[in-house]
Amino acid sequence: MPDSETPRRVLPRRVLVVGAGTMGNGIAQVFAVSGASVHLVDIREEFTARGMATIEKNLGRQVKRGTLTEAEAKAAYSRVEPGTRMAAAADAEFVVEAIVENEAKKLSLYGALDPLLPRAAILASNTSSISITRLGAASGRPDRFIGMHFMNPVPVMELVEVIRGLETSDETFETTMELSRRLGKTPCAVNDAPGFVSNRVLMPLINEAAFALMEGVGTAEDIDRIMRLGMRHPMGPLALADLIGLDVVLDILRVLQEGFGDPRYRPCPLLVKLVDGGRLGRKTGRGFHDYRAAGS
Ligand code: NAD
Repeated sequence: MPDSETPRRVLPRRVLVVGAGTMGNGIAQVFAVSGASVHLVDIREEFTARGMATIEKNLGRQVKRGTLTEAEAKAAYSRVEPGTRMAAAADAEFVVEAIVENEAKKLSLYGALDPLLPRAAILASNTSSISITRLGAASGRPDRFIGMHFMNPVPVMELVEVIRGLETSDETFETTMELSRRLGKTPCAVNDAPGFVSNRVLMPLINEAAFALMEGVGTAEDIDRIMRLGMRHPMGPLALADLIGLDVVLDILRVLQEGFGDPRYRPCPLLVKLVDGGRLGRKTGRGFHDYRAAGS
C-alpha cells in the first residue's frame, strides 16, 4: 500500500522514561522534542536533576546548530517532568525502561510498574542485550512488551533497533516502529537473540581491542587511531567503550557469554579491572582514556 494510503495510527503522547542516566535523559529529550509529554523518573532526585541538566545542555546545542529554535527548545524542556515516584506511571501510554543492564533489577522494576500502568500501555526496554522474550514473559504484559534499543548519544544517532519478543503483538511492534520514525529515527527490526545485532557485532570488537591493549600490542591511542584511519570508524573502539560506559560494556559481554555459552565472549581482564576500580569511562572521567584534563 502506498504511504499516502497507510492508515495513520494514533501514537502515544504521554510517555514515561524510567532511568535518567546516559540513555534515559536522551530518550526523554527526543520524545519531548517530538511533542510528547514525558515523565522522567529515577531513584534519586540528584539523578533526575543531572538528567535535566544534560537535556538542557543538549537542547542548547541543537539551537546553536540551528536544528531547533530557542522557543522549540524551551517548549521541549518544559514538556519533561522529572520525579522519583512511580505514580507518574498512572497515565502513561508508552514506557521506555532505561535503568541499569541488570536482569534482576529490570524484573523487579516491571513487577512494581505493571499494576500502576494502564492496561493498554506498551512497555519498551532499552536493554542492550538481555532477552526481550524473557523480560517480556516476566513483565505482566508480554504482548505489549518490546525492545526499543536507542544508540548513544540518543539525540544524535539515527538508529533504533526494534526487537520483537516471542509474544510481542503486531500492534505493539507497528506502534513502536512508527513512534521511532516520529522521533526522527530510522527503526531496524531484528529478532530476539543475545546482544541482538548491534552489540553482538560491536562488543567482540571492543573486547578484542581491550585484549590488544592489555597484551601491549598497542597503546589505547594507537589502537583507536588504527581503527579510525584504517577502517574509517568515526571513533576508535576504546573511545567508544568509554562513551558507552565500561560497566555497561562488561554487563553486555556477560550476557553474550552466558547467552551463547561460548568462551569467545569472555570479558577481557583489563576491562574487568577498570570497572572494579571505578574507571567507567567518560561518566567518571577515566576509562581506557583520561578525560579529566579536557573537562568532558
Ligand atoms: P546509566 O547507569 O547511565 O543510567 C541508569 C540509571 O537508571 C541510573 O541513573 C540509575 O539511578 C537508574 N535506575 C536504576 N534502577 C532504577 C529503578 N529501579 N528505577 C528508576 N531508575 C533506576 O545507564 P545507561 O548507560 O543509561 O543504560 C541504561 C540502559 O540502556 C541499559 O539497559 C543499557 O544496557 C542500555 N543502553 C546503554 C547504552 C550506552 O551507550 N550507555 C546504549 C544503548 C542501550
